[in-house]
Order: sequence, then C-alpha cells, then structure tokens
Amino acid sequence: MFEKILIANRGEIALRIQRACRELNIKTVAVHSEADADAKYVRLADESVCIGPAPSSLSYLNIPAIISAAEVTDAQAIHPGYGFLSENADFAERVEKSGFVFIGPRPDTIRMMGDKVSAKNAMKRAGVPCVPGYDGALPESPAEIVKIVRSIGYPVIIKAAGGGGGRGMRVVHTEAALLNAVTMTRSEAQAAFGNPMVYAEKYLENPRHIEIQVLADEHGNAVHLGERDCSMQRRHQKIIEEAPAFGIPLRLRNKIGERCAEACRKIGYRGAGTFEFLYEDDEFYFIEMNTRVQVEHPVTEMITGVDIVQEQIRIAASQKLGFRQRDIQFRGHAIECRINAEHPFKLTPSPGRITAYHTPGGPGIRVDSHVYHNYFVPPHYDSMIGKVIAYGETREQAFARMRSALSEMIVEGIDTNIPLHRQLLLDAAFVRGGTSIHYLEQKLASLAPPE
Ligand code: ADP
Repeated sequence: MFEKILIANRGEIALRIQRACRELNIKTVAVHSEADADAKYVRLADESVCIGPAPSSLSYLNIPAIISAAEVTDAQAIHPGYGFLSENADFAERVEKSGFVFIGPRPDTIRMMGDKVSAKNAMKRAGVPCVPGYDGALPESPAEIVKIVRSIGYPVIIKAAGGGGGRGMRVVHTEAALLNAVTMTRSEAQAAFGNPMVYAEKYLENPRHIEIQVLADEHGNAVHLGERDCSMQRRHQKIIEEAPAFGIPLRLRNKIGERCAEACRKIGYRGAGTFEFLYEDDEFYFIEMNTRVQVEHPVTEMITGVDIVQEQIRIAASQKLGFRQRDIQFRGHAIECRINAEHPFKLTPSPGRITAYHTPGGPGIRVDSHVYHNYFVPPHYDSMIGKVIAYGETREQAFARMRSALSEMIVEGIDTNIPLHRQLLLDAAFVRGGTSIHYLEQKLASLAPPE
C-alpha cells in the first residue's frame, strides 16, 4: 500500500479523499491555490503545497506545479478527485511518466471515454445499449448532415464529443433549425473544450438519468455496485441523487449492471467508473462513461457498505478486489442533496463569508462538506459547498430523515439552495418516485417567486 498520496483537488472531495487515506493509514499532501490556503482540510493534511494563485487555470489545472509538489513531498500516488484534471488523459500520462501512480484508469482508457463518439462506439462493441443515432462525428457537408439527422428522426440532440458538465448540447426539433444549431454547438465546443467535433443522437423526450457504478481491478475482476437515479437536474446538472432507482424491476437493474461489469472486463477497465444511461419505457440507453469518482458516490456507499474511494486507492496499488459480485449486498435506500452556494430559484452563484453554520445529524445522516462557521466561499470555483446524505431502511424513511436534516441545517451569510431542496422533498410527484430529467426545470418555472 502507498505511504503517501497527493490529493490534486479542493473542497469536499479533497476532504473525502483525506478521510479515506487516514483510515488506510496513508499520509496526505494537500495542494492548494492561494484562495484555499486557510481551508481546514489543508491544515489537517500531513503536508501542504501552494501550487498557484486563485484561478484554477493557474493552480488546480497547473500540471507542472502539481507534479513538482509530488516530487518535493515524495508522494507515491496522485488522486485527482472529480472535475479539474480527473479526466485529463495527458495529466494521467504525465503523472505516470514522472514515476507516480495515477489513481484512476489507464490514460488510453480516459482518452477513449473522454471522446463521447469513441466511447459510444466502444460500448456498442462491448454489448452496452446506446442512444440511437449516427455512429460518427457529424461531417462538414450541410447536405450530409441533413441526411444523417433525417435518418435518426427528429427531435435530435447535437452534442460536443469533448463535452462535459452539462455544456455543449442543443436540442433540435425541426430541420429548419438544424444547421444553425450544429454551427453554434461546434463553435461553443471549440471555445469550451478545444474540440469542435459534434455528434447527433435521438433526443429522448421523457427519460430518467440512471447510472451504474462499477469497480474493476487490473487483474480482470469487475463488479457493479448497482445504480443511482440522478434525474433531478437543472441545466443538465444533477442536484439530488438516490439509490436504488425507484420502480425499475430488479431483473432489469441487475441485467444492465452485469452488462457494465462485463464491458469493464472486455475493455480492460481499471478503477472506479460510472456508466451513465437514459432510461425510458423499460430500456436503458448509454450516453457516456465517467472515469473517476462521482459527486454522488456516497448514496452507493450507504446502501452497499463499500468505501468507493478506498477501493480506488487499493486498485491503484495493484490489489485485487476483495469481493465478488455475489458478496455485494444492497440494503435500504439513500438520497443525497447537493448544497450549492447559489440563489435557490435564480440559480446565480453566491460566494462570500458563512456567518452561521449548523449541520444536521441523527440516525442515517451523513454530511460531506469542507465548510464551517466563518469559512469564506471563494468565487473562483464550483458553487457546491457540500452534500447531505440520508439513509433509511426504506425510501420513505430516507426521505423523512432528509426532510428532518434539511430543517435542521443552517447556512447564513450566503444564499444556498437549501430552500429549494426543502420544497422538492415535499413535492408530491418526486415523493411518489420516477420523475424524469425535465421535471425540475418545469417545476422551477412554477416555484420561482414573482420578481
Ligand atoms: P455531460 O458530460 O455534459 O454531463 P451527458 O451526455 O452526460 O453530458 O448528458 C447530460 C444530461 O443531458 C443528461 O443527464 C440528460 O439530462 C441530458 N441528455 C443528454 N443526452 C440526451 C438525449 N439523447 N436525450 C435527452 N436528454 C439528453
């Protein structure tokens, strides 16, 4: 096992990784920007290195600074967390070439999955069902594009091959709007991801977002840890996740889980990963794979008892998975609310000083957050300040505990989306279960208080 790991991230996931390391008796190196110098998890790390000024392009995305921090501290491995460099194949390659272990998949796997067109093709070959569409990137010729999209049938969604974070997507309902949409998505994709390649797939009108968590070691063993329902989204970004998914027959969930584990074996996947699907009319359609730990991993940990971050570290240390599929027991229900520093209805970011902070507790409640009383939420990064996770023996109990937790939670000095979560946890359709990915956007329109 490693003796020392460098954590190339910030915020709650940096703290989460630090906790996993402590339990495994591994020393930690926190790297941080100038804006995060006073963060509690930076102080709690065994060592810390400032890697640059506040903007992430100069710090958390600064590959040479991170590698030299690993060199001067004698770290053996680097955990990238999520976001930032976690799905950057060049970074993974540089880490390995510099003699460190990258805690994640091989660089070529990250590269293949980072291009959504090649990811879909690889998954198709591995027997995973995909959203119907055209197999390649869209060509330049307008006539060709029109022909391809006609064969898919409207509505379609034009997506950036290199896209992520819910950006670089456009729905097209009519042929009249097609070419303009392709041009706009292309230039957005070039600006945001440095890659103008776009592709087209069928736009599903009322799907749910269901994803499968997998773990695979480098010895050819792979298991799935079941699914998560992440349909509660705004602007294509998740805010509530739960496991298991309500109302989907166990037989179907097991079948798709097995397919994903099998795909991991076929492509020689290593590490933790997530297969994302849209689910409509009892069918699963693959959209993309995330080759890293996800924000919502705790709901799976709560119902399986598996520590996903520790497993990532064990796998990176070349250990064999300590369990087989049949050893994994699913028990109870878990739900997670992402707490964002933003206006609950206008969704505008709300950085600043937290003047009062009280976290909930009690049976089944877990809070993963790096913030505290008097913490300053910097304006430079993602607005998520933590996650509240509730576990119950049943879905009803998990929801009841979450309602209680949200009523106890106090964050003052900044806006947060806690009032939105409180309303959603009482929403009749959500409580009933099975709402689609469009539900929250529709609901937000009706919830928004008059200006
Ligand atoms: P990203 O990598 O940016 O997260 P994804 O491909 O995972 O992009 O898609 C994000 C979200 O966009 C999905 O959860 C879903 O809400 C919506 N979406 C993506 N593809 C489709 C599709 N074919 N039909 C309908 N909605 C889609």
